[in-house]
Amino acid sequence: MRLRRAVLAAGALGALVGVMVTRAAQLRSHQLTVEPAAPIAVAAGAPERLAAALRIATVSLQDRAQIDPAPFFALHRLLAESFPAAHRVLEREVVNERSLLYRWPGRDGALAPDLFMAHLDVVPVEPNRAWTHAPFAGEIADGFVWGRGALDDKGSLMALFEAVESLAAAGWQPARTLYIALGQDEEIGGAEGNVRIAARLAERGVHLEAVFDEGTPITTGIVEGVAAPVAGVAVSEKGYLTLELTVAAAGGHSSMPPPATAVGILAAAIARLETHPFPPRLDGATRRMLETLAPEMPFGRRLALANLWLLGPLIARQLTRTNAGNALVRTTLAPTMLEGSQKENVLPLRARGVVNLRILPGEDVAGTIALVRSVIADERVKIATVPPTLSEPARLSSDGSRAWRVLSRTLRQRLPGVLVTPALMVGASDSRHYLAIADDVYRFLPFVLTREDLQRPHGTDERVRVEDYLRAIQVYTQLVRDAAAP
Ligand SMILES: [Zn+2]
Repeated sequence: MRLRRAVLAAGALGALVGVMVTRAAQLRSHQLTVEPAAPIAVAAGAPERLAAALRIATVSLQDRAQIDPAPFFALHRLLAESFPAAHRVLEREVVNERSLLYRWPGRDGALAPDLFMAHLDVVPVEPNRAWTHAPFAGEIADGFVWGRGALDDKGSLMALFEAVESLAAAGWQPARTLYIALGQDEEIGGAEGNVRIAARLAERGVHLEAVFDEGTPITTGIVEGVAAPVAGVAVSEKGYLTLELTVAAAGGHSSMPPPATAVGILAAAIARLETHPFPPRLDGATRRMLETLAPEMPFGRRLALANLWLLGPLIARQLTRTNAGNALVRTTLAPTMLEGSQKENVLPLRARGVVNLRILPGEDVAGTIALVRSVIADERVKIATVPPTLSEPARLSSDGSRAWRVLSRTLRQRLPGVLVTPALMVGASDSRHYLAIADDVYRFLPFVLTREDLQRPHGTDERVRVEDYLRAIQVYTQLVRDAAAP
């Protein structure tokens, strides 16, 4: 009897392995097959025009009152002067003084318009960090254009306008109406910029086929088991939530402390949150990414990724072992600020901690707060949201739409051999303000980054390779042209 059971078990295991191997063997590449594309000419002086834009310090600060408006107007002027043909054919509208909305009327009013986005602002430069070239000097050296904003997001801004300029100068006209939205405050949530532009479009009854915004870069050497460069196009974005935890107490002299202090209670709550992470889950955009890249991987990895129905939970747990992988499969929580008393020997009347959460698509703000509350499980800790940057995760955009195919074909033609895949964006972008008026939203960065380069946006020595920048202009030229086709 025991032998019979063993034989049956071995048989079942054999069948299971058979199913898994067959699934792995049957995987077919998801990549579009494309013809080599004709080169696209890029106007002389493009890197110099980008460098000029980097010299304008359009810095966003958390305290809006401290933001200098003058650089934003200087950047508006630079765009108008650098791209005269574009400014002859596009309708230009100033929104809330510092943001810009352009409209390029299409020949066919029946086609739903597309929207291209880039933001005008940059993050500040941390003091005491040595840059190889000063962050606002806009220098071109060693084959790179250096400066704050080269990757985030003036590289995309200027490449997009180079593309529009060359198409406009050639007399080309879109069939589909195109919009360009340039927000002034993406780095601090977009409330004064793209929130207002999106509201204006909604008021006018505009419904967009697709939005193209900044997002995941093209990477090399980061996806294990894949030698080719990988262009992640984010089809979803994590939600954003900041919570303030406060504990009130009687205060007093620290020479006679009570057994439980405000700081102690708060610290215990934060420690509980860190030791009770949100459950990992492999679905949505990250699952689509693994399914898309699986056929390009060696057999061992393909075997696992072709069988996510069985191994999904195991792979999700494996991904949690790195910070980057972890962020793809769960809601993350990061304690970022702490406050107690102002003096070493004074018990605080109030201890305050701030935690920043990035919510995995499939979950929501209300559920996340409820989970935080249940993990802390201490009524002495008051939990409140910190406005205004709070957003639900973005819904999944299609990786089968016309706009997806246009973008995918463009990337495959301009970077031969690149693998295009849906991906999840773990940061927040202004594109989220357009979800209500768009069918699909695609977030991408047309620059090739190595693992080391990933620290440059918002970090030190932000720069873009000149050769990469010229290719990005070609990417935008083809993308604008093909997106505008019927
Ligand atoms: Zn950005």
